[in-house]
Amino acid sequence: MAPPVRDGGELCGGPAGTGAPGAGVALQGRQGTGDRDPEHRQPASGVGIFPEHVVELHGNTTYARCIGCGTRYEIAWVKERFDETGMAPSCTACGAPVKSATISFGQSMPDDEMRRATELAQHCDLFLAIGSSLVVWPAAGFPVMARNCGARLVIINNEPTDQDDIADLVIRHDIGETLGPFVGN
Ligand SMILES: [Zn+2]
Repeated sequence: MAPPVRDGGELCGGPAGTGAPGAGVALQGRQGTGDRDPEHRQPASGVGIFPEHVVELHGNTTYARCIGCGTRYEIAWVKERFDETGMAPSCTACGAPVKSATISFGQSMPDDEMRRATELAQHCDLFLAIGSSLVVWPAAGFPVMARNCGARLVIINNEPTDQDDIADLVIRHDIGETLGPFVGN
């Protein structure tokens, strides 16, 4: 049976199953600012995910950027200035505000990250959508895209999602308890 097609489904890069051998897994970050722990981005003892294998569609809270010219600032630098003045600092190069390097509603999505996530979704064998309500687009389009390109789709979330009916497996359970045994917790 052909996989269902929904909005957000796009042309696949090639026939299903022609991706690189092995289990390609597309990773989707959650919208928001409180769920990124830099400690968990360091692979340790052969377990974990290397930073270069993570596509952060919604940015990163471990550093800050000028919203005008894009100059990068360390969080410690921002905090120091904030503690002194009680205000977010301005960019030393252009004077625009400096904020954590996350994408806020209304800001456009980063081109390179979107391109990479699209490629991964189109060529993966298995797509795990973990702890997402799958309602924030365009990121919510990636599970659909992967499914339409032949990947198996597994959704792990406490609450029902709009995409449960196209998933191969839905695990409606706490993500920590579900995935803990697989990541050594
Ligand atoms: Zn600037």
